[in-house]
Amino acid sequence: MLEIETFIAVVVGSGLCVAIGYFIEQRRDRSPRATLFNMACFVPASFLQGLLSPLIAGVTVLVVNALGGGVIVLPSRGWGLPVGAVIYVVAMDGMEYLFHRAQHKIPALWSMHALHHSDATFNVSTTVRHFWADRLLKMLTIYLISGCIFRVSPVILTIYSVFCYYNYVLHLDVGLAFGRWSWLLNAPRYHRLHHSRLPGDENCNFAALLPIFDVLSGAYRRPLPGEHPPTGLADEPGPTSVMEAMVWPLRGLLGRRLGEV
Ligand SMILES: [Zn+2]
Repeated sequence: MLEIETFIAVVVGSGLCVAIGYFIEQRRDRSPRATLFNMACFVPASFLQGLLSPLIAGVTVLVVNALGGGVIVLPSRGWGLPVGAVIYVVAMDGMEYLFHRAQHKIPALWSMHALHHSDATFNVSTTVRHFWADRLLKMLTIYLISGCIFRVSPVILTIYSVFCYYNYVLHLDVGLAFGRWSWLLNAPRYHRLHHSRLPGDENCNFAALLPIFDVLSGAYRRPLPGEHPPTGLADEPGPTSVMEAMVWPLRGLLGRRLGEV
């Protein structure tokens, strides 16, 4: 059952992050249209996620409990807290990385993830432009696996949640990059290369937080000074209506024109 307070908090909180990012970007050519469209898609997607999340979470908890809960108990007090937090953040980032690689490798997952990549106006609101089932699949895979591996305190979960907000920074349309330190921490220009639609940029910079995973897997590409490639899908435009975004993986079957916003 949908928890309406949670749904409102998610929409308002994300809207606030996008609004702050919009004013940070300060693009001369910026138009609110692309941002409003992404937010318009985000509201029904969040509604569906809110509706189905309790069911998925219930299954996840049942499986984790049936397997005896997390095997590794991470410390959550004193000097153990930062150690536990680092272990959890790195492990979760690694699992996010594997999930993202799978999204680009497995056709069924790519058909959903392509909605995120279809944004030709890469900006902070691209952060929330995901197919609604993506998060549910994460709950059934990496969140379930991490629940079986780790037993974590609420404080470590909160620390990880704060790091997740860095996702909004990554999608800012700003010139921030870390040069020769790009392997250390993700940045907007580093991540923009992952969204590039230029030939040759297809399989690089998958990292969420830590590009070291790209370095280790050979997918690391340091952005060149001033590099600002066009984004979006090379072979097709993005959705033109909210309805089309809601049924994005089935667009080939249903036809592209499903009505305007
Ligand atoms: Zn991707």
